[in-house]
Amino acid sequence: MAFDDLYQEIILDHSRNPRNRANLDHIPESEVHDNPSCGDHLKLELLAGPDGNVESLRFDGDGCAISVASASMMTELLKGMPLAEARTKAEEFIGLMKDREHGKETLEADWGELAALGGVVAYPMRVKCATLAWHAVEDSIDKTRGQS
Ligand code: ZN
Repeated sequence: MAFDDLYQEIILDHSRNPRNRANLDHIPESEVHDNPSCGDHLKLELLAGPDGNVESLRFDGDGCAISVASASMMTELLKGMPLAEARTKAEEFIGLMKDREHGKETLEADWGELAALGGVVAYPMRVKCATLAWHAVEDSIDKTRGQS
């Protein structure tokens, strides 16, 4: 019970005070990532440093508390990581959100604040909210690496 309250607090905190949210008007509307089933949409800006790490990761957009909190926590987790590692993390997270058998417990054991999203695994409609930013970062990483 206490855990559920804690997780609720984490999601509310990140959705009300998102980290690394910025005005990204310079990114064209054609690059908006959408989750039509809920109405979430976001833009993502990933800048790689000369060392091949994620130097800056910011998002813009609107959506439900889950989508915004997930994007906010994602930027905090992936910032500073090597691109390849960040790509693997994104794949892992998306996989866990779709793993109704072990997803929740793995998130709770290994993923820090993102454990707060473990309860979403049981709700397929909301999984799309939680994974929107992570699909977006996969795209951004693939584009960034394609350019180098
Ligand atoms: Zn949503």
